[in-house]
Amino acid sequence: MNESVAKKNLVGLSREELAAEMERLGAAPFRARQLWHWIYHRGAQDFAAMTSLAKSFRAELAEHYVLSRPAASRSLASTDGTRKWLLRFADGQEAECVHIPEEDRGTLCVSSQVGCTLTCKFCHTGTQRLVRNLEAAEIVGEVMVARDALGEWPSPQDDRQLTNIVLMGMGEPLYNYDNVAKAVKVMMDGEGLSVSKRKITLSTAGVVPMIERCGRELGVNLAISLHAVTDELRDVLVPLNKKYPLAELLAACRSYPGATNARRITFEYVMLKDVNDSPADARALVQLLEGIPAKVNLIPFNSWPGAPFECSTDAAIAAFGDIVNAAGYPSPVRTPRGRDILAACGQLKSDSIKLRKSERAKEEAALS
Ligand code: SAH
Repeated sequence: MNESVAKKNLVGLSREELAAEMERLGAAPFRARQLWHWIYHRGAQDFAAMTSLAKSFRAELAEHYVLSRPAASRSLASTDGTRKWLLRFADGQEAECVHIPEEDRGTLCVSSQVGCTLTCKFCHTGTQRLVRNLEAAEIVGEVMVARDALGEWPSPQDDRQLTNIVLMGMGEPLYNYDNVAKAVKVMMDGEGLSVSKRKITLSTAGVVPMIERCGRELGVNLAISLHAVTDELRDVLVPLNKKYPLAELLAACRSYPGATNARRITFEYVMLKDVNDSPADARALVQLLEGIPAKVNLIPFNSWPGAPFECSTDAAIAAFGDIVNAAGYPSPVRTPRGRDILAACGQLKSDSIKLRKSERAKEEAALS
Protein backbone atom coordinates (compact mmCIF):
# COMPACT_ATOMS: atom_id res chain seq x y z
CA MET A 1 0.00 0.00 0.00
CA ASN A 2 1.21 3.48 -0.83
CA GLU A 3 2.41 5.18 2.38
CA SER A 4 0.30 8.32 1.95
CA VAL A 5 -2.86 6.23 1.54
CA ALA A 6 -2.39 4.82 5.02
CA LYS A 7 -2.09 8.25 6.63
CA LYS A 8 -5.25 9.86 7.88
CA ASN A 9 -6.49 12.97 6.12
CA LEU A 10 -7.17 15.92 8.44
CA VAL A 11 -9.04 17.98 5.84
CA GLY A 12 -12.77 17.69 6.37
CA LEU A 13 -12.67 16.65 10.02
CA SER A 14 -15.02 18.32 12.49
CA ARG A 15 -13.68 20.14 15.53
CA GLU A 16 -14.46 17.13 17.72
CA GLU A 17 -12.70 14.73 15.37
CA LEU A 18 -9.65 16.96 15.12
CA ALA A 19 -9.51 17.25 18.92
CA ALA A 20 -9.73 13.45 19.19
CA GLU A 21 -6.82 13.07 16.75
CA MET A 22 -4.66 15.45 18.75
CA GLU A 23 -5.52 13.59 21.92
CA ARG A 24 -4.53 10.32 20.29
CA LEU A 25 -1.23 11.93 19.33
CA GLY A 26 -0.72 13.08 22.94
CA ALA A 27 -0.74 16.75 21.85
CA ALA A 28 -2.22 19.55 23.97
CA PRO A 29 -5.87 20.46 23.21
CA PHE A 30 -4.91 23.92 21.88
CA ARG A 31 -3.11 22.17 19.03
CA ALA A 32 -6.49 21.21 17.60
CA ARG A 33 -7.48 24.88 17.55
CA GLN A 34 -4.25 25.85 15.84
CA LEU A 35 -4.70 23.16 13.22
CA TRP A 36 -8.31 24.20 12.65
CA HIS A 37 -7.10 27.70 11.91
CA TRP A 38 -4.45 26.48 9.47
CA ILE A 39 -6.73 24.05 7.69
CA TYR A 40 -9.96 26.02 7.42
CA HIS A 41 -8.95 29.66 7.74
CA ARG A 42 -5.60 29.61 5.99
CA GLY A 43 -6.24 26.68 3.68
CA ALA A 44 -2.81 25.15 4.34
CA GLN A 45 -1.99 22.31 1.97
CA ASP A 46 1.17 21.29 3.73
CA PHE A 47 2.19 20.94 7.38
CA ALA A 48 5.48 22.68 6.60
CA ALA A 49 3.52 25.90 5.94
CA MET A 50 2.14 25.96 9.49
CA THR A 51 4.74 28.35 10.76
CA SER A 52 3.15 28.99 14.14
CA LEU A 53 3.76 25.35 15.05
CA ALA A 54 7.13 24.04 16.26
CA LYS A 55 9.15 22.37 13.52
CA SER A 56 9.28 19.10 15.42
CA PHE A 57 5.49 19.10 15.81
CA ARG A 58 5.02 19.81 12.10
CA ALA A 59 7.25 16.85 11.35
CA GLU A 60 5.27 14.67 13.71
CA LEU A 61 2.02 15.69 12.04
CA ALA A 62 3.43 14.91 8.61
CA GLU A 63 4.45 11.48 9.85
CA HIS A 64 0.89 10.59 10.80
CA TYR A 65 -1.39 12.69 8.64
CA VAL A 66 -1.96 14.22 5.23
CA LEU A 67 -3.83 17.33 4.14
CA SER A 68 -5.54 16.29 0.94
CA ARG A 69 -8.43 17.53 -1.16
CA PRO A 70 -10.48 15.71 -3.74
CA ALA A 71 -8.72 15.93 -7.10
CA ALA A 72 -10.31 17.90 -9.94
CA SER A 73 -10.35 15.27 -12.69
CA ARG A 74 -11.86 17.78 -15.12
CA SER A 75 -12.45 21.48 -14.91
CA LEU A 76 -14.44 23.62 -17.33
CA ALA A 77 -14.80 27.39 -17.50
CA SER A 78 -17.73 29.09 -19.20
CA THR A 79 -17.45 32.36 -21.07
CA ASP A 80 -19.85 33.76 -18.44
CA GLY A 81 -17.37 33.01 -15.61
CA THR A 82 -19.11 29.88 -14.33
CA ARG A 83 -16.68 27.12 -13.44
CA LYS A 84 -17.50 23.46 -13.14
CA TRP A 85 -15.28 20.78 -11.64
CA LEU A 86 -15.59 17.03 -11.74
CA LEU A 87 -14.08 15.98 -8.43
CA ARG A 88 -12.52 12.58 -7.93
CA PHE A 89 -12.51 11.18 -4.42
CA ALA A 90 -10.03 8.74 -2.88
CA ASP A 91 -11.94 5.65 -4.10
CA GLY A 92 -12.16 6.99 -7.67
CA GLN A 93 -15.84 7.99 -7.48
CA GLU A 94 -16.72 11.37 -8.96
CA ALA A 95 -19.19 14.20 -8.37
CA GLU A 96 -19.70 17.69 -9.75
CA CYS A 97 -19.23 21.08 -8.13
CA VAL A 98 -20.01 24.45 -9.74
CA HIS A 99 -19.02 28.06 -8.97
CA ILE A 100 -21.34 30.75 -10.27
CA PRO A 101 -20.00 34.29 -9.92
CA GLU A 102 -22.42 37.21 -9.91
CA GLU A 103 -21.98 40.93 -9.50
CA ASP A 104 -22.29 41.03 -5.73
CA ARG A 105 -21.80 37.42 -4.75
CA GLY A 106 -20.52 34.02 -5.79
CA THR A 107 -22.38 30.78 -5.24
CA LEU A 108 -20.88 27.34 -4.95
CA CYS A 109 -23.21 24.47 -5.81
CA VAL A 110 -22.05 21.32 -4.04
CA SER A 111 -23.03 17.66 -4.40
CA SER A 112 -24.09 15.45 -1.51
CA GLN A 113 -24.12 12.03 -3.18
CA VAL A 114 -22.46 10.25 -6.10
CA GLY A 115 -25.48 9.77 -8.35
CA CYS A 116 -29.01 9.91 -6.96
CA THR A 117 -31.91 7.60 -6.15
CA LEU A 118 -34.74 9.99 -6.98
CA THR A 119 -35.06 9.61 -10.78
CA CYS A 120 -36.68 13.02 -11.32
CA LYS A 121 -37.68 12.96 -14.98
CA PHE A 122 -36.08 16.25 -16.05
CA CYS A 123 -32.80 15.74 -14.18
CA HIS A 124 -29.80 14.23 -15.88
CA THR A 125 -28.33 12.96 -12.61
CA GLY A 126 -31.62 11.09 -12.23
CA THR A 127 -30.49 8.86 -15.09
CA GLN A 128 -27.40 7.82 -13.12
CA ARG A 129 -27.74 5.32 -10.34
CA LEU A 130 -26.79 6.12 -6.76
CA VAL A 131 -23.29 4.91 -6.10
CA ARG A 132 -22.84 6.14 -2.56
CA ASN A 133 -23.27 8.96 -0.10
CA LEU A 134 -20.47 11.49 0.09
CA GLU A 135 -18.62 11.62 3.39
CA ALA A 136 -18.70 14.87 5.35
CA ALA A 137 -15.00 15.35 4.58
CA GLU A 138 -15.69 14.98 0.87
CA ILE A 139 -18.49 17.55 0.94
CA VAL A 140 -16.25 20.00 2.81
CA GLY A 141 -13.52 19.04 0.32
CA GLU A 142 -15.65 20.48 -2.49
CA VAL A 143 -15.55 23.88 -0.81
CA MET A 144 -11.82 23.60 -0.15
CA VAL A 145 -11.07 22.80 -3.81
CA ALA A 146 -13.15 25.76 -4.95
CA ARG A 147 -11.38 28.07 -2.52
CA ASP A 148 -8.03 26.80 -3.79
CA ALA A 149 -9.04 27.45 -7.39
CA LEU A 150 -10.34 30.93 -6.53
CA GLY A 151 -7.20 31.72 -4.53
CA GLU A 152 -9.44 32.61 -1.64
CA TRP A 153 -7.23 31.99 1.41
CA PRO A 154 -7.12 33.04 4.18
CA SER A 155 -10.94 33.20 4.47
CA PRO A 156 -11.57 36.85 3.47
CA GLN A 157 -13.75 39.06 5.68
CA ASP A 158 -15.42 40.71 2.70
CA ASP A 159 -15.24 40.92 -1.09
CA ARG A 160 -15.35 37.17 -1.36
CA GLN A 161 -15.81 35.35 -4.64
CA LEU A 162 -17.39 32.49 -2.75
CA THR A 163 -20.08 33.99 -0.53
CA ASN A 164 -22.91 31.45 -0.75
CA ILE A 165 -23.19 27.69 -0.74
CA VAL A 166 -26.13 25.76 -2.13
CA LEU A 167 -26.58 22.04 -1.60
CA MET A 168 -28.13 21.72 -5.02
CA GLY A 169 -25.65 19.54 -6.84
CA MET A 170 -25.85 15.81 -7.40
CA GLY A 171 -27.83 13.82 -4.86
CA GLU A 172 -30.51 14.34 -2.26
CA PRO A 173 -28.97 16.00 0.80
CA LEU A 174 -31.72 14.90 3.17
CA TYR A 175 -31.02 11.27 2.25
CA ASN A 176 -27.45 11.82 3.50
CA TYR A 177 -28.37 13.99 6.44
CA ASP A 178 -25.70 13.04 8.96
CA ASN A 179 -22.81 13.69 6.60
CA VAL A 180 -24.40 16.84 5.21
CA ALA A 181 -25.05 18.18 8.73
CA LYS A 182 -21.48 17.52 9.77
CA ALA A 183 -20.14 19.21 6.65
CA VAL A 184 -22.44 22.22 7.03
CA LYS A 185 -21.25 22.71 10.60
CA VAL A 186 -17.65 22.81 9.40
CA MET A 187 -18.58 25.32 6.67
CA MET A 188 -20.39 27.57 9.15
CA ASP A 189 -17.62 27.72 11.74
CA GLY A 190 -16.67 31.38 12.18
CA GLU A 191 -13.00 30.56 12.80
CA GLY A 192 -12.67 28.60 9.60
CA LEU A 193 -14.50 28.64 6.27
CA SER A 194 -16.93 30.99 7.94
CA VAL A 195 -19.93 30.85 5.62
CA SER A 196 -22.93 31.87 7.72
CA LYS A 197 -26.05 29.71 7.85
CA ARG A 198 -27.90 32.58 6.19
CA LYS A 199 -25.73 32.05 3.13
CA ILE A 200 -26.19 28.31 2.97
CA THR A 201 -29.22 26.80 1.23
CA LEU A 202 -30.21 23.18 1.28
CA SER A 203 -32.37 22.03 -1.60
CA THR A 204 -34.57 18.98 -1.23
CA ALA A 205 -37.02 17.16 -3.46
CA GLY A 206 -39.13 16.84 -0.32
CA VAL A 207 -37.90 14.30 2.24
CA VAL A 208 -40.63 15.44 4.61
CA PRO A 209 -39.56 13.65 7.83
CA MET A 210 -36.13 15.34 7.74
CA ILE A 211 -37.22 18.91 7.04
CA GLU A 212 -38.00 20.03 10.58
CA ARG A 213 -34.76 18.57 11.92
CA CYS A 214 -32.75 20.30 9.22
CA GLY A 215 -34.22 23.67 10.22
CA ARG A 216 -33.84 23.09 13.95
CA GLU A 217 -30.31 21.70 13.90
CA LEU A 218 -28.70 23.59 11.04
CA GLY A 219 -30.86 26.69 10.57
CA VAL A 220 -29.92 26.88 6.89
CA ASN A 221 -32.19 28.29 4.19
CA LEU A 222 -34.55 25.77 2.70
CA ALA A 223 -35.27 25.28 -0.99
CA ILE A 224 -37.93 22.88 -2.19
CA SER A 225 -37.84 21.38 -5.68
CA LEU A 226 -41.56 21.71 -6.32
CA HIS A 227 -41.97 21.69 -10.12
CA ALA A 228 -45.66 20.76 -10.17
CA VAL A 229 -48.87 21.89 -8.51
CA THR A 230 -50.83 18.63 -8.59
CA ASP A 231 -49.90 15.28 -7.09
CA GLU A 232 -50.76 13.69 -10.40
CA LEU A 233 -48.04 15.56 -12.27
CA ARG A 234 -45.57 15.71 -9.40
CA ASP A 235 -45.76 11.92 -9.01
CA VAL A 236 -44.37 11.75 -12.55
CA LEU A 237 -41.79 14.57 -12.45
CA VAL A 238 -40.53 13.97 -8.90
CA PRO A 239 -41.41 10.36 -8.04
CA LEU A 240 -40.58 10.98 -4.36
CA ASN A 241 -43.95 12.74 -4.31
CA LYS A 242 -45.65 9.33 -4.18
CA LYS A 243 -44.09 8.86 -0.77
CA TYR A 244 -44.47 12.44 0.49
CA PRO A 245 -47.32 14.13 -1.40
CA LEU A 246 -47.83 17.87 -1.78
CA ALA A 247 -50.07 18.39 1.25
CA GLU A 248 -47.49 16.84 3.59
CA LEU A 249 -44.63 18.67 1.95
CA LEU A 250 -46.32 22.06 2.20
CA ALA A 251 -47.31 21.39 5.83
CA ALA A 252 -43.63 20.75 6.63
CA CYS A 253 -42.77 24.06 4.92
CA ARG A 254 -45.43 25.94 6.90
CA SER A 255 -43.74 24.89 10.12
CA TYR A 256 -40.11 25.16 8.97
CA PRO A 257 -38.17 26.63 11.89
CA GLY A 258 -36.90 30.12 11.19
CA ALA A 259 -38.81 30.84 7.98
CA THR A 260 -40.00 34.46 7.94
CA ASN A 261 -40.78 37.04 5.29
CA ALA A 262 -37.18 38.17 5.60
CA ARG A 263 -35.96 34.59 5.26
CA ARG A 264 -38.27 32.95 2.80
CA ILE A 265 -38.41 29.36 1.68
CA THR A 266 -37.42 29.08 -1.98
CA PHE A 267 -39.62 26.98 -4.23
CA GLU A 268 -37.77 25.84 -7.31
CA TYR A 269 -39.95 25.42 -10.35
CA VAL A 270 -38.37 24.11 -13.53
CA MET A 271 -40.21 25.49 -16.56
CA LEU A 272 -41.23 22.65 -18.88
CA LYS A 273 -43.00 23.58 -22.09
CA ASP A 274 -46.69 22.64 -22.10
CA VAL A 275 -46.19 20.47 -19.02
CA ASN A 276 -46.33 22.74 -15.97
CA ASP A 277 -46.12 26.27 -17.36
CA SER A 278 -49.70 27.48 -17.95
CA PRO A 279 -51.32 30.50 -16.27
CA ALA A 280 -53.67 28.04 -14.53
CA ASP A 281 -50.62 26.28 -13.07
CA ALA A 282 -49.34 29.64 -11.82
CA ARG A 283 -52.65 30.40 -10.14
CA ALA A 284 -52.71 26.96 -8.52
CA LEU A 285 -49.18 27.52 -7.29
CA VAL A 286 -50.22 30.75 -5.58
CA GLN A 287 -52.99 28.86 -3.81
CA LEU A 288 -50.63 26.13 -2.65
CA LEU A 289 -48.20 28.64 -1.18
CA GLU A 290 -50.87 30.36 0.91
CA GLY A 291 -49.49 31.10 4.37
CA ILE A 292 -45.87 30.20 3.55
CA PRO A 293 -43.18 32.91 3.50
CA ALA A 294 -42.14 31.91 0.02
CA LYS A 295 -40.16 32.96 -3.00
CA VAL A 296 -40.39 31.12 -6.31
CA ASN A 297 -37.35 30.49 -8.46
CA LEU A 298 -38.39 29.91 -12.04
CA ILE A 299 -35.73 27.73 -13.62
CA PRO A 300 -35.53 27.53 -17.41
CA PHE A 301 -35.11 23.82 -18.15
CA ASN A 302 -31.51 22.93 -18.99
CA SER A 303 -31.86 20.42 -21.74
CA TRP A 304 -29.63 17.38 -22.20
CA PRO A 305 -29.39 14.78 -24.99
CA GLY A 306 -32.41 12.50 -24.87
CA ALA A 307 -34.33 14.66 -22.39
CA PRO A 308 -38.09 14.10 -22.65
CA PHE A 309 -38.91 17.83 -22.23
CA GLU A 310 -38.35 21.22 -23.78
CA CYS A 311 -37.86 24.51 -21.99
CA SER A 312 -40.89 26.81 -21.83
CA THR A 313 -40.90 29.87 -24.06
CA ASP A 314 -39.68 33.17 -22.61
CA ALA A 315 -43.22 34.52 -22.95
CA ALA A 316 -44.72 31.61 -20.99
CA ILE A 317 -42.12 32.02 -18.25
CA ALA A 318 -42.76 35.77 -18.04
CA ALA A 319 -46.54 35.31 -17.89
CA PHE A 320 -46.19 32.64 -15.20
CA GLY A 321 -43.86 34.87 -13.18
CA ASP A 322 -46.22 37.85 -13.43
CA ILE A 323 -49.08 35.89 -11.87
CA VAL A 324 -46.97 34.60 -8.99
CA ASN A 325 -45.39 37.98 -8.44
CA ALA A 326 -48.71 39.81 -8.40
CA ALA A 327 -49.79 37.51 -5.56
CA GLY A 328 -46.90 38.82 -3.43
CA TYR A 329 -44.32 36.13 -4.03
CA PRO A 330 -41.04 37.26 -5.60
CA SER A 331 -40.53 35.06 -8.65
CA PRO A 332 -37.19 35.72 -10.30
CA VAL A 333 -36.27 33.76 -13.41
CA ARG A 334 -32.94 32.05 -12.93
CA THR A 335 -30.51 33.28 -15.54
CA PRO A 336 -29.14 30.28 -17.38
CA ARG A 337 -25.43 30.00 -16.60
CA GLY A 338 -22.64 27.90 -18.03
CA ARG A 339 -24.69 26.79 -21.02
CA ASP A 340 -21.44 26.18 -22.92
CA ILE A 341 -20.04 23.81 -20.29
CA LEU A 342 -22.55 20.94 -19.98
CA ALA A 343 -24.84 22.91 -17.70
CA ALA A 344 -27.36 20.27 -16.64
CA CYS A 345 -26.45 18.68 -13.34
CA GLY A 346 -24.73 15.34 -13.97
CA GLN A 347 -23.84 16.02 -17.59
CA LEU A 348 -20.14 16.58 -17.03
CA LYS A 349 -19.90 13.29 -15.18
CA SER A 350 -21.71 11.35 -17.92
CA ASP A 351 -19.60 13.04 -20.57
CA SER A 352 -16.40 12.10 -18.76
CA ILE A 353 -17.49 8.47 -18.44
CA LYS A 354 -18.26 8.42 -22.18
CA LEU A 355 -14.92 10.03 -22.98
CA ARG A 356 -13.01 7.49 -20.91
CA LYS A 357 -14.91 4.61 -22.49
CA SER A 358 -14.04 5.83 -25.97
CA GLU A 359 -10.40 6.34 -24.97
CA ARG A 360 -10.30 2.81 -23.57
CA ALA A 361 -11.88 1.44 -26.75
CA LYS A 362 -9.24 3.26 -28.82
CA GLU A 363 -6.46 1.85 -26.65
CA GLU A 364 -7.89 -1.65 -26.92
CA ALA A 365 -8.24 -1.30 -30.69
CA ALA A 366 -4.60 -0.17 -30.90
CA LEU A 367 -3.47 -3.16 -28.87
CA SER A 368 -5.40 -5.79 -30.82
N1 SAH B 1 -32.12 16.50 -4.68
C1 SAH B 1 -32.14 17.90 -4.38
C2 SAH B 1 -30.92 18.65 -4.86
C3 SAH B 1 -30.44 18.35 -6.25
S1 SAH B 1 -31.42 18.97 -7.60
C4 SAH B 1 -33.39 18.53 -4.93
O1 SAH B 1 -34.15 17.84 -5.61
O2 SAH B 1 -33.65 19.68 -4.65
C5 SAH B 1 -31.24 20.69 -7.46
C6 SAH B 1 -32.13 21.48 -8.40
O3 SAH B 1 -31.64 21.35 -9.73
C7 SAH B 1 -33.56 21.01 -8.40
O4 SAH B 1 -34.41 22.04 -8.05
C8 SAH B 1 -33.80 20.65 -9.85
O5 SAH B 1 -35.01 21.17 -10.24
C9 SAH B 1 -32.74 21.36 -10.60
N2 SAH B 1 -32.47 20.69 -11.86
C10 SAH B 1 -32.02 19.44 -12.04
N3 SAH B 1 -31.90 19.16 -13.36
C11 SAH B 1 -32.28 20.27 -14.02
C12 SAH B 1 -32.35 20.61 -15.41
N4 SAH B 1 -32.00 19.75 -16.35
N5 SAH B 1 -32.78 21.85 -15.72
C13 SAH B 1 -33.11 22.74 -14.76
N6 SAH B 1 -33.04 22.48 -13.45
C14 SAH B 1 -32.65 21.26 -13.08
